[in-house]
Amino acid sequence: MPTASMTIREAYVEASSFLGKLGVAEAASCVELLLQHLLGCSRTELLFRFQEQFPVELADAWRQLVERKAAGEPVQYITGEQDFYGLPFAVSPAVLIPRPETELLVEALLHEGSRLFPQGAPLLADVGTGSGIIPVTVAHARPDWRVAGSDISAAALEMARSNAQRHGVAARVEWLEGDLLEPYIQRRIAPDILVSNPPYIPDGDLPALMPEVRLFEPHTALFGGVEGLDLYRRMIGQLPLLPRIPTVVGFEVGIGQAEAVAAMLRAAADWEQIRFVPDLQGIDRHVIAIRPSK
Ligand code: GLN
Repeated sequence: MPTASMTIREAYVEASSFLGKLGVAEAASCVELLLQHLLGCSRTELLFRFQEQFPVELADAWRQLVERKAAGEPVQYITGEQDFYGLPFAVSPAVLIPRPETELLVEALLHEGSRLFPQGAPLLADVGTGSGIIPVTVAHARPDWRVAGSDISAAALEMARSNAQRHGVAARVEWLEGDLLEPYIQRRIAPDILVSNPPYIPDGDLPALMPEVRLFEPHTALFGGVEGLDLYRRMIGQLPLLPRIPTVVGFEVGIGQAEAVAAMLRAAADWEQIRFVPDLQGIDRHVIAIRPSK
């Protein structure tokens, strides 16, 4: 660990090789993120500061960060941050760490929303919003849309609220606490675009999950019953209880689940089209259902 005579670069090399030998995935980029966090600087600034002496007064704090990573904790929980759709989001163990696939869901819904509501002002509602990435990103990208996010977890909503504040959209996002579609049904809110990336991992897959996920991420955000389909089934069952069926429904789904989710949607309402959006690995990752135009 850093001594009085070490440069930042030497501390970087030392920590990367220490974590690398322990088998930590992408050790060097984790160390970069941890150093940026410790020194409060951007990646570019970090590279500029490589030849500086490592600040001795930060040596203990640095040791603690590296030890947390060595114990398998996701780097995002250590730094408290993850980027999503070009914006930095605060995260904590109360919420799922945003995944890059979900950016494609946001992309698809921004596109469909602009196409179907050319005058603007559709209401988009995100169910199980976690850190609030979807409502905050949409509110940021579409200043004329109305946006809501809900979660059963009060701790998640607190995180989502602070992310909305951070990105200057707090006044434009409504946060609702409650189970799946209940808060919308109770308040007679009719979303035009309903989106959700619900927990969808089959319960039995728990032992097969990477320890980084299994031991640190909230299980309520991960698991969706025996087949992983419970939350889709319940949400789709609640659709007819909304003031009207949303014009667009967009779900993120797990591997091999797209067809089953599409079948549930087909059984619940008439759709003009239901299509799948593949992720960057070619897995059908999102199901987008669009109502017939009147
Ligand atoms: N909507 C949040 C996300 O996509 C949380 C999802 C979840 O907790 N299952 O990251």
